[in-house]
Amino acid sequence: MERKQAIIIGSGIGGLALGIRLQSLGFDTKIFEKLDAPGGRAYVRRVDGFTFDMGPTVITVPHLIEELFSLERDAAALAEPDFSPQVLDINNRIRTGISGGPNTSKYVKIIPILPFYRIYFDDGSYFDYDGDPESTRRQIQAIEPEDLAGYERFHDDAKAIFDRGFLELGYTYFGDVVTMLKIAPDLVKLDAVRPLFAFVKRYFKSPKLQQVFSFEPLLVGGSPLKVPAIYAMIHFVEKTWGIHFAMGGTGSLVKGFVRKFEELGGKIYYNSEVSRIDVEGTRFGRKVVKGIALADGSVHPAELVASNGDYANTYMKLIDKKYRFINQNARVKFAKQSMSIVVIYFGFKADGLDLDLRHHNIILGPRYEALLDEIFEQKVLSKDFSQYLHIPSLTDPSLAPPGHHAAYTLVPVPNNKSGLDWSKLGEPLVDKVLTFLEERGYIPELRQRLVHKSFITPDYFENTLNSYLGNGFGVEPVLTQSAFFRPHNRSEDIENFYLVGANAQPGGGTPAVMMSAKITARVIAKDYAIPDTIVKAVGTPKVSLK
Ligand SMILES: Cc1cc2nc3c(=O)[nH]c(=O)nc-3n(C[C@H](O)[C@H](O)[C@H](O)COP(=O)(O)OP(=O)(O)OC[C@H]3O[C@@H](n4cnc5c(N)ncnc54)[C@H](O)[C@@H]3O)c2cc1C
Repeated sequence: MERKQAIIIGSGIGGLALGIRLQSLGFDTKIFEKLDAPGGRAYVRRVDGFTFDMGPTVITVPHLIEELFSLERDAAALAEPDFSPQVLDINNRIRTGISGGPNTSKYVKIIPILPFYRIYFDDGSYFDYDGDPESTRRQIQAIEPEDLAGYERFHDDAKAIFDRGFLELGYTYFGDVVTMLKIAPDLVKLDAVRPLFAFVKRYFKSPKLQQVFSFEPLLVGGSPLKVPAIYAMIHFVEKTWGIHFAMGGTGSLVKGFVRKFEELGGKIYYNSEVSRIDVEGTRFGRKVVKGIALADGSVHPAELVASNGDYANTYMKLIDKKYRFINQNARVKFAKQSMSIVVIYFGFKADGLDLDLRHHNIILGPRYEALLDEIFEQKVLSKDFSQYLHIPSLTDPSLAPPGHHAAYTLVPVPNNKSGLDWSKLGEPLVDKVLTFLEERGYIPELRQRLVHKSFITPDYFENTLNSYLGNGFGVEPVLTQSAFFRPHNRSEDIENFYLVGANAQPGGGTPAVMMSAKITARVIAKDYAIPDTIVKAVGTPKVSLK
């Protein structure tokens, strides 16, 4: 079979996942990456003996990873991945301490993490969320006994949303409005279109529990006040398949994906920023992608191009506007961008320190709704903050020099539509956050123990990762930018041009970008009339649930 040339712009997890899939579909794929190493948001910062994952840390749905590591070149020879209950069952994973299947373990070791999160409230009390119904009930009882009945109802209703929204519709490509209209009545019936926070408030009286059961979309850049309740499925995704960690950090998973891609014959080029996507055609006629040009002036032809980069910047900066009727500048700028974040990477001496923290800690501030409103709507820098504190060296000491911990803490802030000057505001905010961690007793004597500190602000997302307005997570996940209304994986403007990753369908977060790669790969398989024996490689596995 003649292999067609494909180019992917960007080596985020979505770009790598699509690269693996295209190799297995019979393309010769080149990935061009602006940075000097892969991963995109999952880039790794190594400094002073510490290894910091710069982005995603919470790994969910490990069988999506197993599926990628199971693919083979020209996948007619595909061995069925192992989706037996031993591989999928969360209790078995926790018992054996191993996540993922046999193919994953050839590339990276993934283990389950418990509790999933420790969620601290502003009064110092906490909730250990671990997906175990008994421990969840016990903790709800201690906070607000009247909410126990609400939890049972929430559990059932969130499960119904998960069954329909994730298990049945997860891989649906909403390329036309008819597909969207077909599922709309179901979503209304499940109440999945109501804003998540309003949905959660129907079940829980306690403000603490309202926060525990609604904060998760923040990890993918969405405001709990605005994302549709379909995001209640995250709760169930975590409960069903657990939360996992790649030993060595998420960077080891990225490294595994690069190795897999290269083993299948794909090629990846770093320090290679794409400056133009070449299109052939007429303003009012057919337009077909021809390849790309790099910032160094070199031109690379291809039959197919997919962008893993930012939606707005891909269309506005890389494609001449005469080729764009649907994704015109006005429309692209009209799209709402997700919030941004300040992330502080820090290393500290651990000797004699008795840390009462977990691997994943959510430290909520004194305000919830008002704070979210300031970040997402008013776009101002608030006086208070909530944060997600990650201490992976509690699980994997190799990430820090002996006797030290490696940590990062992430603070949601507005994207750069705010006009905030981060060159002035960054450092004082970082000091305030670290002082808070010390003075509230989360990490005693932190400033004395500190041996490394560095941070990123929305400017990193805007200037280094080429994300429009410094968005942290792509196009904001709101109802009006979901499914059909989210940027399309198959360009509406240009033939053989595709999107993959957090900006495309189904959305952001590591599981969703892997799903996005599969959706895009399926659309490509259809467009190129790839034989069924090979398409099998991008089929949906049968996921048996207990
Ligand atoms: C701090 C942080 C924490 C997060 N935590 C979690 C978490 O715990 N769990 C979770 O599931 N999700 C998390 N997320 C979200 C998750 O990281 C993202 O949704 C996901 O990694 C995005 O992957 P992607 O494939 O869309 O591409 P990206 O990671 O955005 O990569 C895009 C790539 O394209 C490259 N690029 C852009 N323009 C060009 C160009 N012109 N030429 C060449 N290359 C270009 C960029 O350099 C980049 O490498 C987090 C995100 C952040 C920022």
